[in-house]
Amino acid sequence: MEVTRFAPSPNGSLHLGHAYSAIVAHDLATERGGRFLLRIEDIDGARSRPELADEFLADLAWLGLTWNEVPAQATRLASYDAAAERLRSAGLLYPCTCTRAEVAGPVYPGTCRGRTDRPAGAAWRLDVGRAMASTGAIEWEDELAGVQQARPDLAGDPVLVRKDAPASYHLAATLDDAADGVTLVTRGRDLFAATHIHRLLQALLDLPVPRWHHHLLLVEDDGRKLAKRRGSPGLRDLRLVGEDGPALADSLRAHRFPAGISLGEYLD
Ligand code: GLU
Repeated sequence: MEVTRFAPSPNGSLHLGHAYSAIVAHDLATERGGRFLLRIEDIDGARSRPELADEFLADLAWLGLTWNEVPAQATRLASYDAAAERLRSAGLLYPCTCTRAEVAGPVYPGTCRGRTDRPAGAAWRLDVGRAMASTGAIEWEDELAGVQQARPDLAGDPVLVRKDAPASYHLAATLDDAADGVTLVTRGRDLFAATHIHRLLQALLDLPVPRWHHHLLLVEDDGRKLAKRRGSPGLRDLRLVGEDGPALADSLRAHRFPAGISLGEYLD
């Protein structure tokens, strides 16, 4: 049975892009007689505002969606610790005390690679070169983009355990998708590159391998990602002024977006 999910982080209100993502995941599951899951990704340190979860539920119900809710990430910390310890014991993680300023740039240069101490308050990074040597070549499949050769090396060694959180997005989402029985990981194209890392983690941790559906993103007419500060409407606000949620959902399905919004390729 197909199992899809929508996994918002309660860092801010949902906007039209989130609505589109939730609708795509919901409809793919229901068209295939499957299940659509909602998972609240609430371990994002100081940025996380758990009280927003109730707002998200109200927004999705207003759009006319139904879902099965699975446990939020904050209840799953033991599974993240266990997986990190397994990778650590296999010699695949190293502690990193570099500050954001020291990393300077999108690809981590590997400054701490090879460290074997366990300094307090360090982040833990995956040694991607060593990990790929242990798995050999791996592939993954996106429903829209086809079969991909996994290239986790393109982004440098990712943080799996953060200084300020028990797991990074990469580790937590990969473990949760496996625990929740997700068969089709549905999310926006902006996370396409993250899937290379997730696929590597699945190979290292003997997790089941789903398929992916990275949908196009709604963008503002100038091609930029939607952002509330540029005036893209928040779902909560639309709901509270009495907009018709199911009608909005149908217009998103039909790609008839509100003025100023279009469906674009993701521009990095
Ligand atoms: N919590 C992530 C976000 O809101 C979701 C990522 C995912 O769907 O894998 O961006």
